[in-house]
Amino acid sequence: DSSSGSSGFFSKRTFPGRVPAGIGRKSLRIVVTGGAGFVGSHLVDKLISRGDEVIVIDNFFTGRKENLVHLFRNPRFELIRHDVVEPILLEVDQIYHLACPASPVHYKYNPTNVMGTLNMLGLAKRVGARFLLTSTSEVYGDPLEHPQKETYWGNVNPIGERSCYDEGKRTAETLTMDCHRGADVEVRIARIFNTYGPRMCLDDGRVVSNFVAQVIRKQPMTVYGDGKQTRSFQYVSDLVDGLVALMEGEHVGPFNLGNPGEFTMLELAEVVKETIDSSATIEFKPNTADDPHKRKPDISKAKELLNWEPRISLREGLPLMVNDFRNRILNGDEGKGL
Ligand code: NAD
Ligand code: UDP
Repeated sequence: DSSSGSSGFFSKRTFPGRVPAGIGRKSLRIVVTGGAGFVGSHLVDKLISRGDEVIVIDNFFTGRKENLVHLFRNPRFELIRHDVVEPILLEVDQIYHLACPASPVHYKYNPTNVMGTLNMLGLAKRVGARFLLTSTSEVYGDPLEHPQKETYWGNVNPIGERSCYDEGKRTAETLTMDCHRGADVEVRIARIFNTYGPRMCLDDGRVVSNFVAQVIRKQPMTVYGDGKQTRSFQYVSDLVDGLVALMEGEHVGPFNLGNPGEFTMLELAEVVKETIDSSATIEFKPNTADDPHKRKPDISKAKELLNWEPRISLREGLPLMVNDFRNRILNGDEGKGL
């Protein structure tokens, strides 16, 4: 039982030989599960650049070493190939728990949300680490409240194709709060809204990566359904700033982390077209089951309590990922993020 015992070898202690992170702050040892993925690798960059030690745990299900290769020679960086469905013992101060197959094409196949979260909470309890769960706006399902506040309980189909993800994350939130209340684990919960940026998988089916890759390849953008459904798109550096503010702050959450700018898929296609190629076209395809009709975060809580809000609009952020996508497509790296 990796979750029991809070004294002896696994009790909280200071680590000798730490490199100071900067004046007035001691360097932390931080685990990032899923750190070889899209969001995780940007988070790791930020933590390393501010002087902390980072251990990434990843099974490379959707992430890849290339996202982190620039850190391999850094003595404050470590990469462990491990599936979080199995327990692991490490002495750390903080755990950012991102490991999860996060796109529709991947998430059906994996119990990571429940078992992985349980194992990482067990580790947090054992070593006295602070634990941050990356939950999702999908916990609101097809929302009947708009925009969504953290107080909204959601409208989720428990037996649909997306349920493994939605209900998995809802269960992960429940486990996190139970451990907080019942075992005094310090926890933080982020509900992340659609995020885009460099290193996104090229082919995992998410709309921004699909549209950008399709236009670069001179293919039509595939709009599902009538294209009138809405989403709010956040640039990855804004999200990373929000995750760190949440971890370092005093509030458990949950906090919505997203950009309130709301776009229909047809509007998104128009912005992608303006950004990359004015001759781009669209084609309509049938929509997937249980697709939420609209989604937009109310971020008043994060603004007030974390002093955080996104700074990069869709029109500013899109060009920042286009170069990365273009390079990867031209270099024949058709697979995952770089
Ligand atoms: P990603 O697929 O790029 O990254 C997920 C990482 O987790 C990958 O590196 C993958 O290999 C790893 N992983 C998956 N299963 C694992 C396992 N069992 N053991 C160890 N590692 C495992 O996805 P992302 O977009 O970077 O998402 C990161 C987190 O943010 C996820 O928890 C996701 O649910 C959450 N989130 C992301 C978005 C978004 O728009 N990107 C929105 C809401 C929530
Ligand atoms: N979508 C689309 N074309 C695509 C991929 C997705 O029109 O090629 C739509 C999808 O139906 C959904 C929205 O874009 O309404 C966002 O989908 P995504 O999978 O990116 O995120 P999520 O549904 O998890 O918010």
